Amino acid sequence: MTLMDILDAAHESTQPSLVVLGSRGSIPVSGAKYTRFGGNTTSIAIEQDGLAATFIDAGTGINAYEEHGLVLSDQLSIFLTHYHWDHIQGLSMLGDMWGGDCIVEIWGSDDPKASLSGAIRPPWFPVSLAGQDNVFYRPIEGVVHRGSVQLTPFTVNHPGGALGYRIEGPGAVVLVVTDHEQVEGAVLKIPEGHVDVVIYDAQYLPSEMDGRRGWGHSSWKDATTFASEVDADRLILTSHDPGRSDDAIDAIVGAAQEMFPATEAARPGMRISL
Ligand SMILES: [Zn+2]
Repeated sequence: MTLMDILDAAHESTQPSLVVLGSRGSIPVSGAKYTRFGGNTTSIAIEQDGLAATFIDAGTGINAYEEHGLVLSDQLSIFLTHYHWDHIQGLSMLGDMWGGDCIVEIWGSDDPKASLSGAIRPPWFPVSLAGQDNVFYRPIEGVVHRGSVQLTPFTVNHPGGALGYRIEGPGAVVLVVTDHEQVEGAVLKIPEGHVDVVIYDAQYLPSEMDGRRGWGHSSWKDATTFASEVDADRLILTSHDPGRSDDAIDAIVGAAQEMFPATEAARPGMRISL
């Protein structure tokens, strides 16, 4: 083994990455037409030093971490974009959270404790989240550091309010905008600094937008416009509509590539180096 090999190995062990666990919007789906882009709702892990300790959102994708080869840390930080069902439902079935040995911090806007303990309790779930003394709630107000990764929240346009996150690692900056309706003429204000990769809400087709104004989602076309505006290298479409088959998502990616060539669609297991 040469010195370069050793340095490369050391670099690999510390290079964090994002791992997409769920990229479906609104409700989980399953079946033959959803095999490639998956059926689980939004969750993205950040793997550092071989452990998944940090997550963006806890849709049903979070429960699939083992499927994608991730090992859960015993100290979790879960950063929520908002409290709609499709972003929190995986929390209720995250076994480690109920174990007691795992310390879980849940970060979100306003009052994460009130929002979550009102949702995860009888009669909607057999057990109450309130009273779990290993779970801590952190209203997010600014930049948070987790290992070599810096997370900066920003406000997006979604019913009831929601956040996007700018995630800066040692090697790349990724902007995560899972649920956002781009209103014509409005500017999405993002934290300063360059952006390498944009993960952006593309739930609707441009032709569907007129009937769905105010629902809080964008089209793939809005996503390409935004990626161009921020001069990103790569665009990843997410929050796929629950009715959208793998083939329909392929067609969306094809159309989006005409406007922004480096476009892909988020799928479970997709890994992005930070
Ligand atoms: Zn929502």
